[in-house]
Amino acid sequence: MKDHAALTDVGRTREHNEDAYAVVQLLDGLLCAVADGMGGHAAGEVASRIAIEKMEHAARAARLGQPLLPELQNAADAAHAAIREAAQDGREGMGCTLTVVAVRPGKLELLHIGDSRAYLLHDGAIEQLTDDDTLVGEMQRQALLTEAEAREHPARSVLTRALGVGQVADFSAATIDSRPGDLLLLCSDGLTGHLTDDELLARLDPKQGLEPVAKALVAAANEAGGSDNVTVVLARTR
Ligand code: MG
Repeated sequence: MKDHAALTDVGRTREHNEDAYAVVQLLDGLLCAVADGMGGHAAGEVASRIAIEKMEHAARAARLGQPLLPELQNAADAAHAAIREAAQDGREGMGCTLTVVAVRPGKLELLHIGDSRAYLLHDGAIEQLTDDDTLVGEMQRQALLTEAEAREHPARSVLTRALGVGQVADFSAATIDSRPGDLLLLCSDGLTGHLTDDELLARLDPKQGLEPVAKALVAAANEAGGSDNVTVVLARTR
């Protein structure tokens, strides 16, 4: 059975797909990345494409048994600078989210900025590995908003951090212990804007193949309105 699946879809209301993703085979694992672009006039597509290409490049430099996180951080810094430079050609406000996980034996190396998400499914429970870099995410962490209030909040998509925006990009980085056979989900907010964690969990049947699960998740987001581009990357841990 395949150990990963990935799918992106424009959704029901947008004209362009500004999400991008990558899945790259490593010697001892898999690099998975999702980026969600922002900025008008195709700028978002340019930003997310730059971010993903830098991650693919970093993955190709990975060495057996060596931590990949420093390479990913360097590549993300380079993507930040490249997006800022590209934004000078009349593409103001251009930027993107980036959530990238190197799946390696016994561990996950995670780098994150923005409001795309990484989840880990283990023993029938779903755990969000990333914090949303959004105003409402900040308010939720300070217990000023419930999850239900955050979902309906008019400013729910306002990011506090993004790649390509501001002088320095402030990433979250972590190395997380994992066990073989758990399920990793990376997704853009086009999925989580429509589905709660419980609704995700209900569709993440680890006994199914990953491709039908990815299709079911994207279909569920579209059935719920498809108000944004939706991207799903699934991978089994090792
Ligand atoms: Mg989005």
